[in-house]
Amino acid sequence: MIRKNTGKEASVEEVIETLRDVPGAPDTLCAICYLKQRAAERALRGLYTELVNDYDLRLRWRKTTGFCRQHGELASRIGDPLGTAILYLDMVDSNQATGDDGGKMKPWARKRPQPSKDGKCLCCTDEKIAEERYLQAVASSMRQDSSFIDALTASRHGLCIAHSSSLQGMLPTDLAQALQKETMRRLALLKEQLAEIVRKSDYRYQHEPRGDEKDAWLRALQLFSSR
Ligand SMILES: [Zn+2]
Ligand SMILES: [Zn+2]
Repeated sequence: MIRKNTGKEASVEEVIETLRDVPGAPDTLCAICYLKQRAAERALRGLYTELVNDYDLRLRWRKTTGFCRQHGELASRIGDPLGTAILYLDMVDSNQATGDDGGKMKPWARKRPQPSKDGKCLCCTDEKIAEERYLQAVASSMRQDSSFIDALTASRHGLCIAHSSSLQGMLPTDLAQALQKETMRRLALLKEQLAEIVRKSDYRYQHEPRGDEKDAWLRALQLFSSR
């Protein structure tokens, strides 16, 4: 975890709430994908806020190779110049120390202990932890009552195939089958709506008003996106 105190634990109520009111952007339609992305954003903000005072956090940062491409782009949107400068002075310094001096380490650099650069992007780490916690919270709630599956059935966007399948793997057979049935129902509906988009592209039907199928293409992109 980037921050030592990460606030409240992941809860099924958050997932249900997200299913009811997911943001409209095509890449955040699955409730778990959205909450996972939110965890990465919080992790990034936490890193910028606490990096000056938190020495352990700086050490962890130095052991990484920086942000992955996706979270580097996120940092360029929500980070700030000073925080980024502090973070990347560390990064540049440790890379210079192992520089390209004919492939040999400079004598002064050789004396300095270098961090092993095997650490994963800190945002990816927090994102993964959040994802696991939300999936666990949902799986445990499903064992108790039907509130999640009811909310999922009523939801316009549901879960992506990848998260639905991860969840199925965490459930006993009967619940996994109930989830699979819901996924199949959703796929059948999506198929109908995609076919409707194609049908209405024909000049004979172009005058027909757009119905529920209007954002089906976005839902298809999201549903089949890989994590
Ligand atoms: Zn998802
Ligand atoms: Zn990352």
